[in-house]
Amino acid sequence: MSDLRVSCTECGACCSAFRVSFHRSELAAEGSAGVPVGMAVHEVGNTWRMVGTDDSAADGKPPRCVALCGAVGESVSCSIYAQRPSPCREFGALASVGIYEAACNRARARHGLPRLKVEDSW
Ligand code: SF4
Repeated sequence: MSDLRVSCTECGACCSAFRVSFHRSELAAEGSAGVPVGMAVHEVGNTWRMVGTDDSAADGKPPRCVALCGAVGESVSCSIYAQRPSPCREFGALASVGIYEAACNRARARHGLPRLKVEDSW
């Protein structure tokens, strides 16, 4: 077991690596909390996407969710944490038990961050 300990509030690589798509029912609506409409873009049908998560910069930089604050790999937070969409809620929870461990490490590799094992984090 490595000495490396990482929490999602130190990492944030997944918020700056993958497309985040969700059902339109998760958007904020009059009288109900949800993802702010201004932070999402319509994808197709009932599917919307977090702005920035499908954007590839011309210089090859990874995408970055519009709601992500801070520096990846140092200190990050989600500006809509309580209203974040279901893929974001599920990813961290499932990565912590190894189900998305490979995806977590792909995102980290994209940012030049060292590989983790589940027992090294959370
Ligand atoms: S909504 Fe929050 S948790 Fe989800 S990708 Fe964006 S910054 Fe990350």
